[in-house]
Amino acid sequence: MVRTVVVVGIPGVGKTTVLNIAVNELLSKGYVVKVINFGDYMLQELTQRGLVRSRDEIRLLPLKIQREVQEMVAKRIRYEIDSECKLRSESIFFIDTHAVVKTSTGYWSGLPRHVIEHLMPDIVVVIEASVDEILNRQIRDKSRERSDYGDPKLLSDLLIMNRMFAISSATLVGVPVYILYNREGSVREAALELVDVVINRLRV
Ligand code: ATP
Ligand code: AMP
Ligand code: MG
Repeated sequence: MVRTVVVVGIPGVGKTTVLNIAVNELLSKGYVVKVINFGDYMLQELTQRGLVRSRDEIRLLPLKIQREVQEMVAKRIRYEIDSECKLRSESIFFIDTHAVVKTSTGYWSGLPRHVIEHLMPDIVVVIEASVDEILNRQIRDKSRERSDYGDPKLLSDLLIMNRMFAISSATLVGVPVYILYNREGSVREAALELVDVVINRLRV
């Protein structure tokens, strides 16, 4: 059985960290599992075009370019999932991405119809934490430049926006939305809850 899990959450909430642990846990149980980081694909394409040097510059580009590359990436991911499914019929794919992106022209869906219909997930998982937890994680993580998301009022608005955009996208393809809380210092608990959802509760 192939399961595709789209994982979203606002920058610095801990998506990539939770997924790393969840994947190791699943591999140790013998599952075939792969994380596809949407931002990696966006970064690769935009770096080749000489338009960005880091992943946190992507959302500052004109929307027209982001939209074009977003759709191209969604198709590429679909192709890769289909290719792997031809080789193995039992796989779990996690897509690490964003339900909403704050651009200079407003909040923009990371998973509009032309994207979510290519990804075709079985579930959308929304990772959340409190505004203070997210702010502190952003400040501690010196490997990234998330200052455009570093305002408490903005983060509190974004937590709501993130849910609303995630629900809209899930509704387009008729799949459930699971809210997963990533508590401070308890990333392993969050990862294990995600594993439980994917292998025990998700009926595809
Ligand atoms: P982005 O969308 O920008 O890629 P992200 O959601 O993938 O962000 P991560 O890079 O996984 O976020 O995590 C941001 C920082 O928060 C990292 O330094 C990570 O170690 C830390 N972190 C993640 N989860 C927790 C947690 N439960 N408790 C404490 N620190 C955490
Ligand atoms: P991340 O490392 O997850 O923050 O991804 C890097 C960047 O890629 C994000 O900050 C966004 O600019 C972009 N990105 C990721 N997923 C999407 C998406 N679904 N739609 C548009 N842009 C995305
Ligand atoms: Mg990440």
